[in-house]
Amino acid sequence: MPMAFYGGHELVIEYANDAMIALWGKGPGVRGMRLRDALPELEGQPLFGLLDRVFTTGTTYQAKEDRVDLVVGGVLQTFYFSFSYKALRDEQGQVVGIIDTAADVSELVRAREQLAGAQEQLSFALNAADIGTWDLHPASRIVHWDARCRELFGFQGDDEVLYDDVLDCIHPEDLEQVLAAIDAALDPANTGDYDIQYRTMGRKDRVKRWVHCKGKAYFDSDGVAVRFAGIALDVSEAVARRRREEQLLSLVEHNHEHMSIVDLDGHVVYMNAAGRKMVGVGPDEDVTLLKTSDFYTPGELKRLQRLTSGRFLGLAGWQGIIEVRHRQTNEPIPCHVNYIPITDPVTGKVIGRGATARDLRKELQAQRDIGEKNLELEKLLAELRFLSDAVPAVVWTSTADGINDYLNERWNERSHRTAEETLPDGWIASIHPDDHASVQRDWAYAVRTAEPFQVEFRLMDQYGEYRWWLARALALKDESGRVVKWYGTNMDITEQKQVIKQKDSFLGVVSHELKTPLTSIKAYAQVMEKLFLQAADEKNANLMAKLNQQVDRLTRLINDLLEVTKLSAGRVEFTVTTFGFDDLVREIVDLIQLTAAKHRIELRLGYVGQVVADRERVGQVMTNFLTNAIKYSPSADRVIVYTEAVEAGVRFCVKDFGIGINKRHQERVFEQFYRVGGTKECTFPGLGLGLYISAEFVKRMGGRVSVNAEEGQGSLFCFTIPVKSADRNP
Ligand code: ADP
Repeated sequence: MPMAFYGGHELVIEYANDAMIALWGKGPGVRGMRLRDALPELEGQPLFGLLDRVFTTGTTYQAKEDRVDLVVGGVLQTFYFSFSYKALRDEQGQVVGIIDTAADVSELVRAREQLAGAQEQLSFALNAADIGTWDLHPASRIVHWDARCRELFGFQGDDEVLYDDVLDCIHPEDLEQVLAAIDAALDPANTGDYDIQYRTMGRKDRVKRWVHCKGKAYFDSDGVAVRFAGIALDVSEAVARRRREEQLLSLVEHNHEHMSIVDLDGHVVYMNAAGRKMVGVGPDEDVTLLKTSDFYTPGELKRLQRLTSGRFLGLAGWQGIIEVRHRQTNEPIPCHVNYIPITDPVTGKVIGRGATARDLRKELQAQRDIGEKNLELEKLLAELRFLSDAVPAVVWTSTADGINDYLNERWNERSHRTAEETLPDGWIASIHPDDHASVQRDWAYAVRTAEPFQVEFRLMDQYGEYRWWLARALALKDESGRVVKWYGTNMDITEQKQVIKQKDSFLGVVSHELKTPLTSIKAYAQVMEKLFLQAADEKNANLMAKLNQQVDRLTRLINDLLEVTKLSAGRVEFTVTTFGFDDLVREIVDLIQLTAAKHRIELRLGYVGQVVADRERVGQVMTNFLTNAIKYSPSADRVIVYTEAVEAGVRFCVKDFGIGINKRHQERVFEQFYRVGGTKECTFPGLGLGLYISAEFVKRMGGRVSVNAEEGQGSLFCFTIPVKSADRNP
């Protein structure tokens, strides 16, 4: 320890040990010199004043870590001393000198300054990095926090923070995990390390933040935790960013198009799931070990390099179709690719290439399929056209609104003008003037209602003569029921018409010729019956009566035939009178009941009143319905007759409980000579003319007939005529 004694008020260095002399930085020659002379550099510093005061007052002066600048080795240096200047007294108590002891604490002070500097630096760094520090005293459970840390947990001011308050600020979902981490850190069996990310809920502001805490627990020699300290960092931004990045990556990873990134050397950096699947890279395979060249044939790779060279330097990217190769199967995969240069965000330099690729195999296959389908369709169309030209009928089509847009080859052969001259509406001009109105009316009706079109009419042929045609057309509809197109045929029925005409005239002649002898037979038979009766020859009279009945039946048949020929030739005349409809019904029913012993005819009259029509013909229709009802219900015992007034006029119906009619025959029973075939039906005699004649009568009176029957259950035949029936006979 440096030590010196200064004697007298002059402060002569009477003693100074080597340490003091070394401290002064002087030689031993200073001994015996006045202190002022030995250390002139101290002039102006407080030392001399201090010593003077100690000498005069005798009070000891003590200084701690006083700064003293001394020239040591010719260089002015700063030292810190802890001094003590103590007055030395003689026996009389007079101060005779001062004992100076000094301890050089420069090292200590400097170390402390350094520490303070380091601490300041650290706190700057922590502040700059936005890092908070915390320090938990495990025994007292008091937490020392810096301001940043308090902020992170939403504490304000600098109140003491208890450990439990901290726990209260941890997001409930993360609390368990945090407690487990703290326990692990404070467990002396572990390293004491603590590193965790969790969410805090600001104590005051309830703001959610992601916090990353790192720390360490320290233990004493007994293994008791004495300190637990560390840092806390707000990582909310980073977590949010990471989450965004994860989402983006997941989007890319699961995108169904191939996506990849390749560096400038052609090394794969990333490839999404679709990409890996397309080129045959396993889901767990490390893509960074692959090169682009693995996925192209050498030729394709060259072409690609030629196509894209320079593009990336100019940041243009490239789009186009290339062929990728499956790594395992070598299957070529045509792709539409989009190459995008990837640049370094800082330098702006291209560092790689991103690619999206769409597998074109399916599209190309679909295109090929469509091409094939089109070819097939064209073939089919040609075949259809051929077929249409091959049939003997005229085939035509019309638009939904009835404009003729196609006529087959047959038209050209059978018409006085070509299809080209005829389309779209020239066909009307070829129609016989008498058929004009009806054809146009029926066609307009069909187009309006989309109902099947059927009409007979005469058209001028290639020789300028009229021939009969039967036109039929159906409307093709889409799913919504809208008409798309009309498909029609015209059949030449001139010959048929002629045959019918011949048949009619033949029937007319034959039945007329048959009638004359029949009338004579009838007359003779009646006379003979009378003669037998007069001769009381009952047996022969009965035979004659039977003959008479059969002659009547024959007459009825011939009358029917005659009626048909008259109807065909349009020679039926109607005699219109006013009569009570129900009265007529009663009259007819009474008459028929006489001959129908087995059936009871029940009457359900609607009292419809007077009608104006041909009474006899209406009666004929009723008779026909009734005799049929009885004839075709051999095992039944009743028939019901209804009348009623309806909107269209009056209605007459006959219901029987007989053999009925199969649905598919129903509409046809009103046709000429139509009889329902079948073992049951064949046993009933008849020509199949009754219903035809009835229906024709009703139609000509402006009414309509209908049938509603169920096979095996019976039939319901009805007709409706207007109350004032017009005579439609020309
Ligand atoms: P016909 O009775 O002379 O055969 P129609 O013209 O009167 O001729 O009848 C035509 C066909 O209709 C009959 O052959 C028969 O098959 C059927 N038919 C008519 N009325 C009935 C009925 N009430 N029940 C069952 N079938 C009937």
